Amino acid sequence: MAEAYSTLAKPTILVVEDEAPLMTLLRYNLEKQGFKVDEAADGQEALLRVSEARPDLVLLDWMLPALSGIEVCRQLRRRPNTRDLPIIMVTARTEDQDAVRALDTGADDYIAKPFVMDALLARIRALLRRSGGAATKGTLTYRDLTMDQDSHRVSRGGRALHLGPTEYRLLEFFLQHPGRVFTREQMLDAVWGRDIHVEPRTVDVHIRRLRKAINGEHEVDLIRTVRSAGYALDAEDH
Ligand code: CA
Repeated sequence: MAEAYSTLAKPTILVVEDEAPLMTLLRYNLEKQGFKVDEAADGQEALLRVSEARPDLVLLDWMLPALSGIEVCRQLRRRPNTRDLPIIMVTARTEDQDAVRALDTGADDYIAKPFVMDALLARIRALLRRSGGAATKGTLTYRDLTMDQDSHRVSRGGRALHLGPTEYRLLEFFLQHPGRVFTREQMLDAVWGRDIHVEPRTVDVHIRRLRKAINGEHEVDLIRTVRSAGYALDAEDH
């Protein structure tokens, strides 16, 4: 059973890079580290990819054709749904001033080319940890709900819960982003994966099962249904 979960929370990195050989190298190394990789070769494409499928982190080259990395970063920060999207800016510029400018624009971190791959991977992992991403295993909690990602045990108020693999994945995803509202499409991407086609209504079925599994008779419903939007792990504002 543990095998089925091991690929579940693979974080997706959107690599925005116009140099094809570097893109190939980054994809190879990131995939080797267990990340999913999405690609964009220029700034416009990057914005499009992010709105189609929100990644867990963006590795954003500064020097890009059409729309610069700085401008992409600025635009992502202006949109409410990508305001907190983890962004690492990559650039050939080494002046401290540029680092400051990258961070001022809203990037979370900065690395100069040429970089050592291990250093970049370490920064990616660190940023994902900070942003509550899925790079590390551990214990996730929300209110009286606890998920041990190593043993795959879930409990609420000390009572062991029994979840199917999909409900487990859904709950894990929610626990990584408590309070955040996700559309059915976002949940499908994150939990089922982007390569397979699943009807959005499938999500509703699994949400029902998850609710049934985690909410005892006299317990507060921890999942909030947001009309015409989606769902959130959020016990408030019912
Ligand atoms: Ca470039």
